[in-house]
Amino acid sequence: MEKHTLGFDTLQVHAGQHPDSETRSRCVPIYQTAAYSFRDAADASALFALEKTGNIYSRLTNPTNDVLEQRMAALDGGVGALAMASGHAAIFNTILNLAGAGDEIVSSICIYGGAVNLLGVTLGRLGIRTQFVDPDDLQAWEDAVTEKTRAFFVEVVGNPNANLADLAKIAEIAHRHGVPLIVDSTVTTPYLIRPFAHGADIAVYSATKFLGGHGTSVGGIVVDSGNFSFLDNPRFPLYNQPDPSYHGAVFARDFGNAAFILRLRTCLLRDGGACLSPFNAFLILQGVETLSLRMRQHSANALAVAAFLEKQPEVKAVHYPGLASSPYYALAQKYLPKGAGAVFTCELAGGREAAVRFIDALRLFSIVANVGDVRSLVIHPGTTTHGQLSDTQLAQSGIAPGTVRFSIGIEDPEDLLDDLKQALAKSAL
Ligand SMILES: *Cc1c(COP(=O)(O)O)cnc(C)c1O
Repeated sequence: MEKHTLGFDTLQVHAGQHPDSETRSRCVPIYQTAAYSFRDAADASALFALEKTGNIYSRLTNPTNDVLEQRMAALDGGVGALAMASGHAAIFNTILNLAGAGDEIVSSICIYGGAVNLLGVTLGRLGIRTQFVDPDDLQAWEDAVTEKTRAFFVEVVGNPNANLADLAKIAEIAHRHGVPLIVDSTVTTPYLIRPFAHGADIAVYSATKFLGGHGTSVGGIVVDSGNFSFLDNPRFPLYNQPDPSYHGAVFARDFGNAAFILRLRTCLLRDGGACLSPFNAFLILQGVETLSLRMRQHSANALAVAAFLEKQPEVKAVHYPGLASSPYYALAQKYLPKGAGAVFTCELAGGREAAVRFIDALRLFSIVANVGDVRSLVIHPGTTTHGQLSDTQLAQSGIAPGTVRFSIGIEDPEDLLDDLKQALAKSAL
């Protein structure tokens, strides 16, 4: 299948799959196996010595996962992808594939609360220091760079407040300093934006969300653009010195533009072991096949809900880049012409108590610590998903006591508006 000539809607159902040659199975089979039979002892030894390629063990490769990986690489226009056990596994291993003790990461502070912990606390214990910056403050990115910086990290649309990053400008700063830009595009997906067209080098996704799309399975994906050159880059001895654990390979020299994604599989997935189960890969593939259809409905519904909320007296502010009143509206026209996605917040004028009464009064919306389900979801970030953040971090992330986060589903928009109306009325009591 040719990668870049077919349209998105075609790629999402075809890329990466050829019907199974033995069974002619039309759909992607679930290869529910831990290991693969070697033809004989010589075959086994040749595979282990990298004299030929093939499946050895499902921690490293699996044919179901392979279809998902190839499909995501095609949708994003990358050189390769790797499925992982969760979105966090994708972020954690991506960082470990670039940085070690003594190194530094520069990250937006307006990110998923769990990722603030992952980067700020857990990686900190491993000796990797993350410097958090306001993503809109380009000078802050610039000023945070030191000799030890190994990557920039930003969410395309920040969770929860839907702030939109100026990717091209942030990428320009990263590249001027010889570091790659990692973007978490979980809430935008390859349908709403192809981050590599705007300078991002590596895209990570929680496949648990819109890619899987139905709230059934936890998974993650890393896609590599192949555009970042590690060769002779003084920040990356990791890619320019022989790897004692992998046949003495020098990744940047021996594997060209696939160095990053190959190292992620052959070193980090091999050693960290955060592989995706083929059953979850299958479920996520079912979601990917309807990604564009769902994202269109998610985005249209979210815009209708945001526009409605903005007019209600009980609502102090709505943070959605698809609204003309948003400070990110101009950027949204540039980066997200197909829609601004379905995850955003509003702030209730009545503060925390009103937010809690409102959430409890909703009937169609489920109170769930998840986004990207076909069903509409709601949560109070300050006391849940972002509950581990300090008061300062909460303020920096723009999370107020009255902040409510939505993930708008694909229901009939009239039904969502009716539900919101009755719940807002109760919130004001
Ligand atoms: C959920 C989420 C993650 C973490 O993904 P898991 O699959 O839950 O590990 C990372 N980033 C964003 C933006 C998310 O919404």
